[in-house]
Amino acid sequence: MGIRPPLKDMLIDNHNRTINYLRLAVTDRCNLRCNYCMPEEGIDFSNNHKLFTIDELSKLSAILVSQGIDKIRITGGEPFVRKDLMVLLRNLSKMNGLNEISITTNATLIGPYIDELKELGITNINVSMDAINRSTFEKITRRDYYDTVHDNILRLITEGFKVRINFIALDGQNTEDILPMLELAKHYDVCVRYLEEMPFNGGSRKFDSIVWDYKRILEHIKEVYPDYKKIPSHETSTSINYKIPGFKGTFGVIPSFSRTFCGSCNRLRITATGDVITCLYAQACMNIRDILRSDASEEKIRVQILKAIGSRSKTGFEAQQEYQGIFRNSMTSIGG
Ligand code: SAM
Ligand code: SF4
Repeated sequence: MGIRPPLKDMLIDNHNRTINYLRLAVTDRCNLRCNYCMPEEGIDFSNNHKLFTIDELSKLSAILVSQGIDKIRITGGEPFVRKDLMVLLRNLSKMNGLNEISITTNATLIGPYIDELKELGITNINVSMDAINRSTFEKITRRDYYDTVHDNILRLITEGFKVRINFIALDGQNTEDILPMLELAKHYDVCVRYLEEMPFNGGSRKFDSIVWDYKRILEHIKEVYPDYKKIPSHETSTSINYKIPGFKGTFGVIPSFSRTFCGSCNRLRITATGDVITCLYAQACMNIRDILRSDASEEKIRVQILKAIGSRSKTGFEAQQEYQGIFRNSMTSIGG
């Protein structure tokens, strides 16, 4: 595979935002069935030939890096259900101009790869864990992986990875775990991030408002830890971050449903089947898989990406208005 060190362009959207962050889903499959993400059964996974191959993912990434992407987050589905994932990560780690590779995972299958990830310098790992209580975890994920996830999180932390825990506040399911989960940040240098639930769940639940928004999550934490202090976050960060005095780690809230962060959005999403998504609340604006598979694809891809970046919605609310009915989507194809 030829990975060229190209001259860098910049991707600027139609609202003057620089797009330098790609969230790349490598599969729509998952070994868990988190109830906020996908239905228990009857999931319409894509045929294998519709998924990008590792060569295609590497080629696409190289094109996008030449256009100005300097940070790629690998997501899914569960990225590690792809047996060839490490081949992609090895390719990405050699790519000039790509400054950061990170992964979002459920941490069920990462164990055997931890040493190599460290060798490749891939140390930013987000782990989704929505309960510290075993039975709550098993109810939410509909699977029996509690010990594996717990052990892998501790291993990642002790091996020096920069670990962030993603915890979605789900009314009636796990909010009793919000404070116990914070104990992880008390004892370890991790960031526990509380997310608002979004209505992307494969159509298993319908809602147009949420009970546990970021303000309520913060109030809940304040009842026990009134001294927490806001800490600086990167301007493109989706999380607002805090420190509790005496804690080794930090915590954050992500207003994914309230959408307070759209103004500084720097993200582009590509699904495992090639759908290009310029806003989480929008539908895919195009598919680039077949273009990538055609001749002279590189220039065509560049043009299509510029086109997508040039017609982004200003906010998630605007996108939601434009694309009614998208809430049938599941995060397992979008990648979070
Ligand atoms: N399987 C990996 C994992 O769970 O971390 C990666 C894919 S998962 C779809 C990516 C992120 O999307 C996770 O942090 C997950 O919590 C989040 N997510 C999934 N469904 C969601 C929903 N309905 N609302 C908010 N976040 C969601
Ligand atoms: Fe799988 Fe992640 Fe969705 Fe859970 S959130 S079902 S682990 S893709």
